[in-house]
Amino acid sequence: MASLYSRLTALDGKGYGAYKSLVGRYDLGRMTLAIDRVQSDPYAPPSKMHVELPNPAPDFHPVPVCDQVARAVARAFRGHRDISIDSPGQEVLPTASCVDRNGTLHIRFFVQLPARGRRILGRAAAHLICDDLPDALEDAFEGFDPTAAVQLYNQQERMRAALGENVAFIADGAILPRATGTSSLPLTGAVPFRSPESLRTNIAGVTGMGIPRGVTVIVGGGFHGKSTLLNALSLGVYNHTLADGREYAVTNPTAVHVRAEDGRAVAGVDISEFISSLPTGADTTHFTTANASGSTSQAASVMEALEACAEVLLIDEDTSATNFMIRDARMKKLVTAEPITPLVDRVRALWRDHGVSTVIVAGGSSAFIDVADTVIAMEDYEPRDATAAAKELAEPVEEQAPFVLPKPRIVAALKTQHGKRKKQPQAKDAGTIRHGKENVDISAVEQVVSRSQTAGIARALGWVEDHVDGRTPLTQLAEDATAATSALIHGDDHPGALVMPRPLEVAFALSRHRGLKV
Ligand code: ADP
Ligand code: MG
Repeated sequence: MASLYSRLTALDGKGYGAYKSLVGRYDLGRMTLAIDRVQSDPYAPPSKMHVELPNPAPDFHPVPVCDQVARAVARAFRGHRDISIDSPGQEVLPTASCVDRNGTLHIRFFVQLPARGRRILGRAAAHLICDDLPDALEDAFEGFDPTAAVQLYNQQERMRAALGENVAFIADGAILPRATGTSSLPLTGAVPFRSPESLRTNIAGVTGMGIPRGVTVIVGGGFHGKSTLLNALSLGVYNHTLADGREYAVTNPTAVHVRAEDGRAVAGVDISEFISSLPTGADTTHFTTANASGSTSQAASVMEALEACAEVLLIDEDTSATNFMIRDARMKKLVTAEPITPLVDRVRALWRDHGVSTVIVAGGSSAFIDVADTVIAMEDYEPRDATAAAKELAEPVEEQAPFVLPKPRIVAALKTQHGKRKKQPQAKDAGTIRHGKENVDISAVEQVVSRSQTAGIARALGWVEDHVDGRTPLTQLAEDATAATSALIHGDDHPGALVMPRPLEVAFALSRHRGLKV
């Protein structure tokens, strides 16, 4: 510590590049500090450093322990302008901010090395790294006890594993709405969730509403909490942190939230289950476009979810293409050249033939009632079991034609134009990946929770670019690429801000890449 202090003060007044000499490892007593990468100038992204120390809770599941460490360090760094860590959001996921490597925690963070103009401020740097940083880390571990967080994490895992005949479960007392449209914190003063008697079940010791497999329709008036419920289901594939309100809202881990997304690129997707022909004469069994419409984009996204073996589809009318969802009798008479078989005429076959469940929010049209196994009515944020009432209103429907699942697409190429130097894809924001000269728009991939998770997906795309061999299915590449992101997160190098994605989201990002050839 003393030698690092004097080395830093000795750099005072030197050109900024002299900071580079600091790269290396330093023994700080209770922990080791590693300076991994030094920024090239004061305006570049901050320098990367990490500390290593023994895991104080080595017998616990490392994911919630590391998550708690990252949160504690983020709290301790708050107020320090020049030291930062990528802080977890409401979901508890493997994060590069903290990992356990053989019983040693690696806590990775960022430091803005101080300068005046382009000259090193050595004394300020010494103070920052040798006083402020160890003090903050000391604070973070003061009274550190991850027990409650670990128990909660394990409980959520148990519940998801115990879903059985349910696609999802929401506990009585859960708080589903968020504080604002842009915040993922719980809304204060919200109406707690309460299961209707008929759907109440007990999962791993918790009581609440089970949503059975099959076709479920959520109905209700506008502003009564339908989309809020669906969004909770969609993020129920992840574990949530303490006091989130959705801790015990768990969903089948393969569930995919699908929406319309006009303008998206589609590469070689068989959408013929929904769309038999197009005015361009394009082959809908191998649909390729740089600019999909509302209905074709949603058909493609459903087929891609099925290709990736999703067992549950989550669909909200608010974000769907109406002509993809339903078609009424009069419109059938008026528009005879309609090539679309809407979702309402396919969902039963999907369940009957392949056991794929669908949960649909449909407040505006009664068509889905005819094909539903379960109908949940949201009224003043309270669910009511409307299945019996809906059955009385339901009209008989014809047996649906068999549903043919898509064949796996083989990736032929991921063509990316690079500038002079090939660069790893990066997250521009939570919804955009910059890959070479291409922007991959994943803003409609609903279950991506943060920019750092998008960064995790971005690194996976980089791996795919390097490993396309012309004979591997897209979903297999996505899985291998996700494992590569995991290896980066758990590796020796400071990988920057990264959070683990599901292989599904990697597959969906790949599917939207305009350089994808299948
Ligand atoms: P819908 O999809 O039925 O139109 P939303 O789910 O969008 O309704 O919810 C409408 C509003 O009600 C949102 O502002 C949401 O945050 C709020 N809200 C949802 N559930 C609750 C609840 N349990 N308690 C209080 N407010 C809620
Ligand atoms: Mg809504």
